[in-house]
Amino acid sequence: MTAEKTITVDSEKDLVSRNEYGTFFGVTQDTLDRVWQQLREPAGNSAIYVSMEIGADPDVFHPVLDFLHDLEITGSDDKTADAFIRKYLHGPRKIPNYSGGLGVLAGDTLKSFADMHIPVVAISLLYREGYFSQFVDSKVGQIDQATSWNPEKTPTLFQLHDPANPESPLEIDVPFFNERDEPEQIKAQVWMKMEVSEELDFFVPEFLIDYSIDSAPAWIREASDQLYNAKTTIMKANQRRMLGSCVLPLMEALGFTGRTIHLNEQHGVAVSLHLILRELKKRLGKDFYQRMTDSEILQVVDTVAQRIVYTIHTPVKAGHDRFPRSMYTGISHRVCRRILDLLAKDEDSPGEYNFTTLAMRVNRAVNSVSRLHRDVTRRQFPRFAGKITAITNGVHHLTWISANRARIFDQSPLLTGWRNDPGIFSGLAADLHDLNTALAMAWQQDNRILIDYINRMLKMHRNQMLETWIDPPNYLSRLEEAPDLEPGVFTIGFARRFSTYKRADLIFKDIDALADILLQKKRRINLVFAGKAHPADEPGKNVLKLVLDNQEELYRKSHGLAKLVFIPGYDMSIAKMMVSGVHAWLNSPKRPLEASGTSGMKAAMNGTPNISVMDGWWVEGYQNGLTGWKFGYEGPVEEADLSEEADSLLYEEDSLSFYTLLPEVLDIFYDRPEEYLQVAVNNLRLNVPIFNTHRMAAEYVGKYNLQLDEQTAATVRHFQQLYQSDQNGK
Ligand SMILES: *Cc1c(COP(=O)(O)O)cnc(C)c1O
Repeated sequence: MTAEKTITVDSEKDLVSRNEYGTFFGVTQDTLDRVWQQLREPAGNSAIYVSMEIGADPDVFHPVLDFLHDLEITGSDDKTADAFIRKYLHGPRKIPNYSGGLGVLAGDTLKSFADMHIPVVAISLLYREGYFSQFVDSKVGQIDQATSWNPEKTPTLFQLHDPANPESPLEIDVPFFNERDEPEQIKAQVWMKMEVSEELDFFVPEFLIDYSIDSAPAWIREASDQLYNAKTTIMKANQRRMLGSCVLPLMEALGFTGRTIHLNEQHGVAVSLHLILRELKKRLGKDFYQRMTDSEILQVVDTVAQRIVYTIHTPVKAGHDRFPRSMYTGISHRVCRRILDLLAKDEDSPGEYNFTTLAMRVNRAVNSVSRLHRDVTRRQFPRFAGKITAITNGVHHLTWISANRARIFDQSPLLTGWRNDPGIFSGLAADLHDLNTALAMAWQQDNRILIDYINRMLKMHRNQMLETWIDPPNYLSRLEEAPDLEPGVFTIGFARRFSTYKRADLIFKDIDALADILLQKKRRINLVFAGKAHPADEPGKNVLKLVLDNQEELYRKSHGLAKLVFIPGYDMSIAKMMVSGVHAWLNSPKRPLEASGTSGMKAAMNGTPNISVMDGWWVEGYQNGLTGWKFGYEGPVEEADLSEEADSLLYEEDSLSFYTLLPEVLDIFYDRPEEYLQVAVNNLRLNVPIFNTHRMAAEYVGKYNLQLDEQTAATVRHFQQLYQSDQNGK
């Protein structure tokens, strides 16, 4: 795995480090001290990244674990190191702190910051029940269950201790207000995870704020149980406040000084309110709320805005928080309400505060996540159109390139340095016989891994069916003479959150047509689906159920040529296995509602071509048909309909377009495999250099106003030059 790593760590003992908050494992003392010092630097030369979710499962990417494995370290004669190593090697690894693309993007971003040595602190919440776990039953559809996990046992999480009282956990006081306009300090504890760089010589600390402590009132504990728990509106609002209100107290408790605050979505925007309150108090004195004028507030807003960078992630209404104004009477100070009245007015719905509007209003830079999404966002928020730019998303290439593909890249002299620089891939040529052969073999291996996993799963479900009441999600498990899936059969993958606009069931609109295409030339096909619907999203759950319901009909009508399989429990490791194991990645949202989409980029990192609607990143990644295929409506956004209503989702037109395209793709795959492989190589050459988070993070650093040392600044410049997202600004 580490063909060209230049690790600065000599022995496992060096990975134990200490400071006044505790003892940690994963970076050297020198690295811990250096990073901590940068984050405390008096001029505030670092950034704070605030996100409701962070997805960075260590079973998918974890340089410290790789280090232990590579050197075959299983213990140590140093007692502290030994305990850590045993926990690391055997402990549960997943941290169920994400629901989908937003969280995974956050994790990938932080990993790239670490690789590039950018001083950043990340802040999110710790959810005692994480995000829900998914079971799937063919009769019922999705069954949601609370996830049980144990932060104490998770080897990559460290609880911070109180420097004044090392036996006790560090507690911070987070300010809230009660219905009598009185401040109420609520205590929270702090966990740290480290996103350690590939070379183990830098890290980005991620602080997960834990409100589930004995002293916490019931409403706080409830809101801290599950990510995106939306049982009640007020609980949802409280979860947002808990994120935004802990930022300043945490920074102060740790002595961190970062000036720039990056809001990954508007969820944490309460931090802006706190900054405004503080600035008003500083300027007008303790009783500022009795004297302040609107124009004084607005002046302060301009000052505070200089500290905020904001990324908006979706044009979909459900992604923009609005809460009833009346609700805030009970949970905020009247000063807050006055500020919200000024800044968070919802144009369409005067009875609500709109927190996207607030975030749009108070920042020095706001960006969308693709070029097309920029144009849509400008249309949605005409007042702010002038300042909305594009920074197209990326993915962390080291996380998403499969081990088999990585081995090939390591062996290719043309790709020397690819681990540190995804831009290297632009040097690939089309006619490299040896590399192409090796790539084809690695792809076959990854395909076999996926197919074996599915076949094992189908068998396991069949046994469960005999032993429990669960009806397995897959028709193939219920067949008596169930045929295995076979490697080498053209396999299409589709996996993402189940939201109606993503149209997971689009290609099943006309099953006769789909079956006919296969029957004509006796083409076999596997369709592998996965994804969770939010527990409160009934329409999303219905789409999932529809996909299951199509299995039998499709299998019968195609005379067994088509096998449609659903993998329950979608997470990062299933995602990685799928994007590298399938032959094409399907993306069928209603344009232009998919702001970016990132799973298709993960496929491209492995060469896997996309078959996609011209939405989100694919408008940029399609590259004149060299890297994959497009289908469906691609009219201008000015004329596009942003509605998510069932009858405006264009099922008819777009599915027809898919059925027109599919035979062509099947012909290339089965009859002209060389040509198909060429598309994969083009993905590596054209798309890896663009849709990686090193480039994306470098574009963000451009908005952070940081003073960087010469070497880091050069690295950032290099990655910025790989691509300019905001080109064609008009
Ligand atoms: C990448 C990823 C997503 C996001 O995929 P989209 O294509 O952006 O919808 C969601 N969930 C998991 C587990 C992922 O790895």
